[in-house]
Amino acid sequence: MTDRLSSIEAIQARIAACRRCPQMIGPPVHGAPVTGRVLLVGQAPGPREADFGRPFAWTAGRTLFRWLENATGADEERVRASVYFAAVARCFPGKARGGGDRRPDPGEIETCGEFLRAEVEVLRPDLVIPVGTLAITEVTGHRGRLVDVIGQTVPVTLFGHETEAIPLPHPSGASTWFKTEPGAALTARALNLLARHPAMRDALA
Ligand code: SF4
Repeated sequence: MTDRLSSIEAIQARIAACRRCPQMIGPPVHGAPVTGRVLLVGQAPGPREADFGRPFAWTAGRTLFRWLENATGADEERVRASVYFAAVARCFPGKARGGGDRRPDPGEIETCGEFLRAEVEVLRPDLVIPVGTLAITEVTGHRGRLVDVIGQTVPVTLFGHETEAIPLPHPSGASTWFKTEPGAALTARALNLLARHPAMRDALA
């Protein structure tokens, strides 16, 4: 456990010091140095997360943690202490021209993916929770409609590591997907799967 902890802390120190993407707005954001077997993968921090120094610290996070607490009984701090929070990109990408946050570009995803690869190699997760379409694509390879992947447990190979993923939609306030059918029922099904997954139960025990 100590080796895993020191390895994760070393990766997080590299993330914190990283300034490799010229278009990204730092500083990078990472979660607590959790060493359990559940890995959550978000898209990228929003504009407020760096102020708080942790992922999902603003409005989307409130929704995400409400979902998880309703499903598992674990409050935000317990989830943050039990689940490793990673992301496709660790810096705020800035605003897109048409509104909303800019989607990290393929080069940024590849560059920042080195950290995700290192985290997977240390943690060897038994469950991965990709949150939002970009993370779902990166973790599962799925590029189609959310209805075809939310509410399912998907076998995945992530950086050579065989594991399972239970995708969630992005909990952004700007999204209506999870508020209307069939998204609401599929999101509830995914959260039920999460709560019953042995790795999640172990992590929160
Ligand atoms: S997005 Fe990732 S790779 Fe790019 S500067 Fe931030 S931490 Fe570094």
